[in-house]
Amino acid sequence: MRLPPFVRPGVPLAGFTTFGIGGPAGWLAEPATRGELREALALAGELGVEARVIGGGSNLLIADSGFPGLVVRLSPRGEFGSRERLPGPSRRWRVGAAAALSGLVDHLAGLGVAGLEFLAGVPGSVGGAARMNAGGGGRGFGRFVVEAEVFPFAGGELVLSGDDLSFSYRQSRLAGGVAVALILRFLESASPEAVLAGMRESRARKRESQPLDLPSAGCVFRNPPGESAGALLEEAGCKGWREGGAEVSDRHANFIVNRGGASAREVALLAGRMRRAVAKARGVWLELEVILWGDDPVFPELTERNP
Ligand SMILES: Cc1cc2nc3c(=O)[nH]c(=O)nc-3n(C[C@H](O)[C@H](O)[C@H](O)COP(=O)(O)OP(=O)(O)OC[C@H]3O[C@@H](n4cnc5c(N)ncnc54)[C@H](O)[C@@H]3O)c2cc1C
Repeated sequence: MRLPPFVRPGVPLAGFTTFGIGGPAGWLAEPATRGELREALALAGELGVEARVIGGGSNLLIADSGFPGLVVRLSPRGEFGSRERLPGPSRRWRVGAAAALSGLVDHLAGLGVAGLEFLAGVPGSVGGAARMNAGGGGRGFGRFVVEAEVFPFAGGELVLSGDDLSFSYRQSRLAGGVAVALILRFLESASPEAVLAGMRESRARKRESQPLDLPSAGCVFRNPPGESAGALLEEAGCKGWREGGAEVSDRHANFIVNRGGASAREVALLAGRMRRAVAKARGVWLELEVILWGDDPVFPELTERNP
């Protein structure tokens, strides 16, 4: 089968993740236009393989054997990386899903748009932030989403409202397709100096408490209701545990860092040990925040609900 120029077979995915881990995609499509995205999703159908979308790869653990389907990575050049303020009195922006979240947050802070300080220092793309309802301290990116323009993997195009997307803690209903653009609305304002100071504070807090000098995928586990997964893991004595090149950070017990050459299997084995330690010490069953792609014999155990 002749592939369009923006689709390549067998591309290693490790370089597209912040963990630096992961085998090849069956096919990697990097569309720069809606037409190309349509073509890529149709191609997955013709090949009879599953399609997925990767953003900044900052919340993913991809198996060492890779992902056998077609991975879409929207090109940030062109419409998928664009942002424009919409006309009218309400402060609304239309932002391409491949735009970097950090760039958007910095840009808006400079304009005196307030309320996004909690997103400072969260890596990844705007599309990934919407899918994950990224955030912290009880707040999530979803609060700003008015609409999402989505290409479902099954075909077609949809516009979903913020309500349709049912944002909740690190969850949304964006899982079934590729968000290409988001309409965002911001209600709070302050002086750019005040917003930038708030962002600096938020980044400094992260620098103090997170191992930002080493590759990771952020928090491995979700916080159980009313508790901090990091505190539970620290209490269970997990800091410093290792499996090959994967290590539980000594700065934040809910971060696994890649000390060099870690495999997905090693990360998964370590995550399994961490979870069992917390279950034994406190009877709390942690659930993954990191999303797993591909097959590994250890993965099913990690996605298992409380047995
Ligand atoms: C150092 C570090 C710190 C972090 N701190 C935080 C934090 O404070 N708060 C927080 O919430 N998270 C944090 N994270 C996790 C991560 O940054 C967020 O979950 C982020 O929003 C993921 O965005 P991404 O573009 O990298 O998504 P990816 O990791 O590429 O993908 C994550 C999920 O989103 C889907 N997705 C990606 N793009 C699209 C799209 N266009 N349309 C539909 N679905 C899409 C993917 O299919 C996948 O299911 C941190 C990660 C790291 C490495």
